[in-house]
Amino acid sequence: PKQEPVDVGEVVSRLVERWRPRMARLKITSIVQVDENVPRVLGDWRALEQVFMNLISNAMDAMSQEGGVLSVRVKRNYSETLRPQVEITISDNGPGIPEEIRERIFQPFVTTKPHGTGLGLPITKRIITAHHGTIKVNSFPGGTVFHVFLPAIPEDE
Ligand code: ADP
Ligand code: MG
Repeated sequence: PKQEPVDVGEVVSRLVERWRPRMARLKITSIVQVDENVPRVLGDWRALEQVFMNLISNAMDAMSQEGGVLSVRVKRNYSETLRPQVEITISDNGPGIPEEIRERIFQPFVTTKPHGTGLGLPITKRIITAHHGTIKVNSFPGGTVFHVFLPAIPEDE
């Protein structure tokens, strides 16, 4: 992938803006909180956009029946070895990932949607790994939270 400085807060803010009309129709409220001191990450804007597009569109799908709240937070963080990183948290209060597929969501073709491809999350994980990042998920019957960690450009403010 490309190696350019990317402002992830801007990537996610623009995506949420673009989908605001659609979310309004689905009775989904969105909250985006981007901290001020978030460093940039080195990578490919388009690929990173794909990551957050997949996670946000899954959250919207999950809340399309009953509506809900999409919450996106972008903040500076530090890895266990104290390297600066950017943490992106995407939460929804949909029904949660069905228990029987929870262990397999990053495998290709795992889907519970009539017209799903089951490729969104595998591609997402692949892109994150190519950026030397990690993804974690926490899901329960009242909602789902994805955490994405990407290494930041050191000393970049
Ligand atoms: P697709 O969206 O095409 O089904 P994905 O790889 O994006 O494929 O997601 C795989 C499956 O994981 C979905 O079909 C759904 O069952 C589950 N899933 C993913 N994100 C969420 C979420 N935020 N809430 C509930 N289920 C989810
Ligand atoms: Mg998907």
